[in-house]
Amino acid sequence: MQQVLTSLLDLQEIDEQLGELDRSKVYLPEMIENINGEMDKLEVQLAENREAFQDAKKKQKQIELDIQSDKNELEKYQQHMKVIKTNKEYDALVTEIDTRKQNISDNEDEILKLMGIIDESTEKIAEFEKDLESAKANNASHLDNLRSEMTSLEAKISKKSDQRKSLTKTIDRRALTVYERIRKGKGGLAVVPLRKRACGGCFKQIPPQMVQQIRRGDRLYTCDSCGRILIWVDEE
Ligand SMILES: [Zn+2]
Repeated sequence: MQQVLTSLLDLQEIDEQLGELDRSKVYLPEMIENINGEMDKLEVQLAENREAFQDAKKKQKQIELDIQSDKNELEKYQQHMKVIKTNKEYDALVTEIDTRKQNISDNEDEILKLMGIIDESTEKIAEFEKDLESAKANNASHLDNLRSEMTSLEAKISKKSDQRKSLTKTIDRRALTVYERIRKGKGGLAVVPLRKRACGGCFKQIPPQMVQQIRRGDRLYTCDSCGRILIWVDEE
């Protein structure tokens, strides 16, 4: 019977490992997705700032052209001022000159704003480029490991499953059925050690006589309360 219990413990270990491998199937892709998601976010922020930079540069160029053309007009009007003959002509010219001056001043304010945007986005672009570069460098080996773990997962699972199959062939049918039933019903551990004379699964106290029987290990004992298979391990 000790042999059966040892085999059940081995089986339980294999089942725990299989469970872990199954969970890896879910969490490995999640981890990869999270890492890529973080880098994608940096890429998006970088692209946004590059766009803001390009956009501001383009506007700046256009406004500089507008300012130049207003300045040309202004000069023309100012030249004209010297040769006017009537008050009406004078008033019209003053209005034109004022309008151009106002335009130039407004556009110069706009240029200042755009230069602020250009400075800010230049800084951000450098920052995100640096972040992205270091994220890529830091994550490269991590991603490689996760991907190769993913690739080897199926092989590991099938190897463990084979191991399980050959082990179960050696285990007493009845004991195996009890084990499978508890594992299915309870999830997690089906074979638990006695801890301080209590079930290691549900912590219910076990009668002293049964503790002795479990210690002898001459047959399969299950906890009255939770049904788990109880085994004796020497406590310190
Ligand atoms: Zn129990």
